[in-house]
Amino acid sequence: MNVEEFRKYGKEVIDYICEYGSNIEERDVAPTLDPGYLKKLLPADAPQSPESFKDVLEDFEQKIMPGVVHWNHPKFFAYFPSGNSFPSVLGDLLSSAIGSIGFSWASCPAAAELETIVMNWYAKALGLPKAFISDAPGSTGGGALQGSASECVLVCLITARARAINELKGHTSVHDSVFLPNLIAYASREAHSSVEKATKMALVKLRIIDADERGRMRVDLLQQAIQNDVNAGLTPFFVVATVGTTGGCAFDDISEIGKVCRQVSSIWLHVDGAYAGNSFILPEMRVFSAGLEYADSFNTNPNKLLLTNFDASALWVRDVMVLKSALNVNPLYLRHEHINGVDYRHYGIPLSRRFRALKLWFVFRTYGVKGLQEYIRNHMVLAKKFEMLVRKDERFEVRNDVHLGLVCFRMRTGDEPNHLLLAQINHSGRMHMTPAKFNGRYVIRFCVTYEHATEKDILDAWAQIKGFAEEILRDVQLEISSAPTTPETERTSSEPVGPVSGKPPIKKKLTRTKSLRFSFTRSISREQFQSQSEHLMDGCTPILVVDPKTIQQNFQQATEDNQNNNNTKLKDISDVDTDEASN
Ligand code: PLP
Repeated sequence: MNVEEFRKYGKEVIDYICEYGSNIEERDVAPTLDPGYLKKLLPADAPQSPESFKDVLEDFEQKIMPGVVHWNHPKFFAYFPSGNSFPSVLGDLLSSAIGSIGFSWASCPAAAELETIVMNWYAKALGLPKAFISDAPGSTGGGALQGSASECVLVCLITARARAINELKGHTSVHDSVFLPNLIAYASREAHSSVEKATKMALVKLRIIDADERGRMRVDLLQQAIQNDVNAGLTPFFVVATVGTTGGCAFDDISEIGKVCRQVSSIWLHVDGAYAGNSFILPEMRVFSAGLEYADSFNTNPNKLLLTNFDASALWVRDVMVLKSALNVNPLYLRHEHINGVDYRHYGIPLSRRFRALKLWFVFRTYGVKGLQEYIRNHMVLAKKFEMLVRKDERFEVRNDVHLGLVCFRMRTGDEPNHLLLAQINHSGRMHMTPAKFNGRYVIRFCVTYEHATEKDILDAWAQIKGFAEEILRDVQLEISSAPTTPETERTSSEPVGPVSGKPPIKKKLTRTKSLRFSFTRSISREQFQSQSEHLMDGCTPILVVDPKTIQQNFQQATEDNQNNNNTKLKDISDVDTDEASN
């Protein structure tokens, strides 16, 4: 494609994007297709000869678009928002056009320096503790953009693991892996599944802490678990608290968790605010950020609630040197003479990094902090509106505390009619929602996501939900009026989940197409939680924990063996990665 063709088609693509955004409501929010739909429409091999760009664009509309879920549709109420906005798209376009790979200051000074500046703007806008802001006096902290919240959690876990192992091994030359069986991490039952995944990848144990009826980590149980593990000779090294859980947008009490973590020096406290962390841009939401001063790290995704398109996940750490030491490798071909320039390759997993700060900079400048605040406040008002509508209808109940944009609701029936309700909502193509298990009950998650959402979107959605519900309730002839209500104070996971009034279970079975709509936004898996309810099974690592004494014995044995037999070999390995962090 030459420059004139690029100019022509570039304008056409921008026009297409404008039309798409303006008329998005004419499209179904999500398609009804079976897997393999595209294979039937596209050839099995790439074309040998060039094709016209016009044909490519036509195929895009006719073959690709029908398989797209429109995350920026006014009736998309699923998951959490996929942040997006025109300034962000344009920033990303320029980043793609520049196409630089900013792994070090030298590889793209503007990318490195803008990232530092934007991360400090962002931290200040959220009111984060000064310890996370690299240009605050006396700060040793700072932030970096990562690809996803999952990556942030993994990076912090690996850093915490390195710090704990360094403490354990002292000046011995024992290989780091010898200490893995001793390490244990903690997260709430409501924490995101990325925590489970991170511990799995890092070969460390995870202990899951139960949550209270509002979905918040039980701090008393955390404290008890840590104490028991310390008594058993284990080393607690990582605790994840969540502000805005995936299932119910619950806010863990970071202050109380922080106080517990402070009692054990080996613990790194990470706070995951993938969605709701962004709401701290509102002073009135900072009641939930109290306690962040105890955290070693904090992440939030502007690509969820800050109008920035995927991918962009912000991670701040209190001590940048600890992070960089854990991840530092320094081959000659990456070194440069500008030792005062920041090399963001030391802040995460990949070497190569996109110029993500650009789109975030565009967003901050074009909306201003005030514009971003207005956008989030609008979501909060609309979620409250939806909550009120649900609460006013005695056939329904709201199960979570609605602080931000998420409302978890259900009909006051057994689970199966609610499955059917969700299936019908999604099958209609007019709205899209996802389910979750919150406080032991199946709920439908209704999340306000659209940038320009209005009260009309909420009223329309509620009218349609009620329409589907009426049909379902009529079909199964439920006597809602005689249904026992669930008082807010008595909601426990042991409530019966079958249909009310002893009626037979719903007969309607979902078709395959409908059941495709059951895409789950998972918190930590129920299997994982259940597997640990009696004793620590450690299903997420190859190290099976039988009892703490055995671990201790194995650990001592392994240490002695390594010292006696493999000393030279292990020392060689451990020496490879000790290059001092250069930034
Ligand atoms: N943490 C929380 C609380 C989330 O809700 C999510 C996803 O929704 C994640 C982590 C994972 O985010 P990502 O897809 O950026 O890895």
